[in-house]
Amino acid sequence: MAPAVNIPALFGSDVFNEATMASRLDSKTFDAWKQCIENGTSLPLDVANEIAVAMKQWAIEKGATHYTHWFQPMTGITAEKHDCFITPADDGTVIMEFSGKELVRGEPDASSFPSGGLRATFEARGYTAWDPTSFAFVRDGSLYIPTCFFSYTGEALDKKTPLLRSIDEVSREAVRILRLFGDQETHRVIPCVGAEQEYFLLPKDLYAQREDLRLTGRTLFGAQPPKGQELDDHYFGTIRGRVSRFMQDLDEQLWRLGVLSKTKHNEAAPCQHELAPIYTAANNACDTNQLMMQVMKKCAAKHSLVCLLHEKPFAGVNGSGKHNNWSLSTDSGKNLFSPGQTPAQNARFLLFLTAFIHGIDEYQEFLRCSIAGAGNDHRLGANEAPPAIVSIFLGDELTAVVESIIHSTNYEGPCKSLMRIGVDVLPPIPKDTTDRNRTSPLAFTGNKFEFRMVGSSQSIAGPNIVLNTIMAEILARYADELEKATDFEDALHSLICRSLTAHERIIFNGNGYAKQWEEEAARRGLSNRKSTPESLSAYTMPKNIALFKKHGIFTENEFHARYEIYLEAYCKIINIEARTSVDMALRQILPAATAYCAALTHGIVDKSAVGLSCKAETALAQKLSCAADKLLEACEALETMLGNVPADKQTAAEYYHNTVCAQMAALRSYADTLEKYTDKKYWPYPTYSDLLYY
Ligand code: ADP
Ligand code: MG
Repeated sequence: MAPAVNIPALFGSDVFNEATMASRLDSKTFDAWKQCIENGTSLPLDVANEIAVAMKQWAIEKGATHYTHWFQPMTGITAEKHDCFITPADDGTVIMEFSGKELVRGEPDASSFPSGGLRATFEARGYTAWDPTSFAFVRDGSLYIPTCFFSYTGEALDKKTPLLRSIDEVSREAVRILRLFGDQETHRVIPCVGAEQEYFLLPKDLYAQREDLRLTGRTLFGAQPPKGQELDDHYFGTIRGRVSRFMQDLDEQLWRLGVLSKTKHNEAAPCQHELAPIYTAANNACDTNQLMMQVMKKCAAKHSLVCLLHEKPFAGVNGSGKHNNWSLSTDSGKNLFSPGQTPAQNARFLLFLTAFIHGIDEYQEFLRCSIAGAGNDHRLGANEAPPAIVSIFLGDELTAVVESIIHSTNYEGPCKSLMRIGVDVLPPIPKDTTDRNRTSPLAFTGNKFEFRMVGSSQSIAGPNIVLNTIMAEILARYADELEKATDFEDALHSLICRSLTAHERIIFNGNGYAKQWEEEAARRGLSNRKSTPESLSAYTMPKNIALFKKHGIFTENEFHARYEIYLEAYCKIINIEARTSVDMALRQILPAATAYCAALTHGIVDKSAVGLSCKAETALAQKLSCAADKLLEACEALETMLGNVPADKQTAAEYYHNTVCAQMAALRSYADTLEKYTDKKYWPYPTYSDLLYY
């Protein structure tokens, strides 16, 4: 039996967290740090110096020799550059040094990170600045310091900076609303996020044999195996030994790093699993999710496995997403999306709910855009994940409440009454008892919204920036209106009624996978942007530019830079996939198929010489030759296409989607036909059966 794990002792043991700070810093320094966190002010250098000394000492005791400013560039993953603590002393020896300046600010040579034109070549440097609201930690011999990353002129080059800005915005506007409800105690409202992470695990040796997996993270070829996921025998099934040992190891590593890893289970597809942490403040949740993805990959390697975070590693098998559970909490822990006990709490709940519905409807294109990416295109709308149409599932009870407000009709709830948001007469809102709707992209699940369109490999910063900002915007508008009102209850009722009427179209409780929903959504005027290039054009819509500028989340420059970066990333990914397809087709698939075909024809010659029937061999050789011819033609056509990519970025991205991806699909179909008819001994890489049922 494995030795017992003492989780409370293990948890956060590699994190320079509040408890460690309290025990390692003198109380003056600790209080100064705490003040900065609470007021959002920057840290005086003398305080930073004190913290740096304590942090270094602690890190060295944990085995660290280096420190790194850990940041989240626009690539969607994290970056780090490690510096050793050593400083030469006069006598030829070294001492271990780390100053407040080094803690607070860094200058990685960052000229190779995507900047979308934000950094001129003469000022290629990027700067990093410590985010003191996120704890430092020790991993693999280095002290990791979570940081923001920005250019010489102060423009954000990362995902953390705008996230922090959006967190402040939604907090300020939500507090304004709470004041109107008579809440004088709340000083901050915090977006809370729990991200459920899906992933695939494959044996390393099989993975290594597939160039497509190694270069693109997904299979570009592969005939469907005789068995898929139709028996539903993997979902929540018993976890096999090797995977179970990986998960246990992973949990322990995550707990050490202060990640609240809570739930693990097998997912719908063979080899697919999920890990869910307990939700935390959005900033921490984003850092944690990045950390989780990295630790997963590294830990898998230790167990001779490979962790695939791609949204669609296998055609015909479920893809991987990340359910982003989002809510707003006050600094005293009150969830603003919890229907309350009293009419006043319910009125507040309804206001926040209405603002959410309003914001999502008004900015649906940009929410969709925030999770656009080459990998996610295979999921959205592909009959497994939510469709590309943004809609909100509220459940029957809450929808009935909304209906009765809009139509001033009787609400047939537990106590039949008119829904009038005079704070005194609002009936209790029942807890949601309807079935979970798994096909909804954005579901209200009792006291939080579950945004299910996020791709498994994506940073959750993007969608949370959008959720926070649109909420801030609508709450600001509501606060402007309500602060002026002479009769608060009247004004509240008419505001809620008016907004719900205007934005009811975004509510949909039915089957999101059904064809009829697409038609119905079109009638409602909802946007349905199926591809990344189409979705990214939301960056050019004036209302979106205005929104992010108004709230100081992005300058117009920063906003435009992101548009360019994502278009370019999309083009590059498809380009790599296309070139990998051609490479595998020409150098692996064709040689295998033709070698087998040659063996068949030799056999035919030999058999005919002694007068035997060669019907099967001839038919097979015929099929193989035919598919091989087509495959070669398809490769040549694809190569020609890759030579003719338009210069304009938006047009290029559309070209990659409409022309290159379509040709890759054609090429694949011939390759998969060849796989079906070629002797397994000749086939150059593991098939879907080999990979999924190892
Ligand atoms: P479900 O069964 O709907 O998936 P769970 O309770 O298992 O719900 O939670 C799923 C994820 O949602 C977990 O990461 C959990 O911590 C997170 N979560 C729960 N409550 C909240 C909340 N108020 N705000 C944000 N995330 C939450
Ligand atoms: Mg869930």
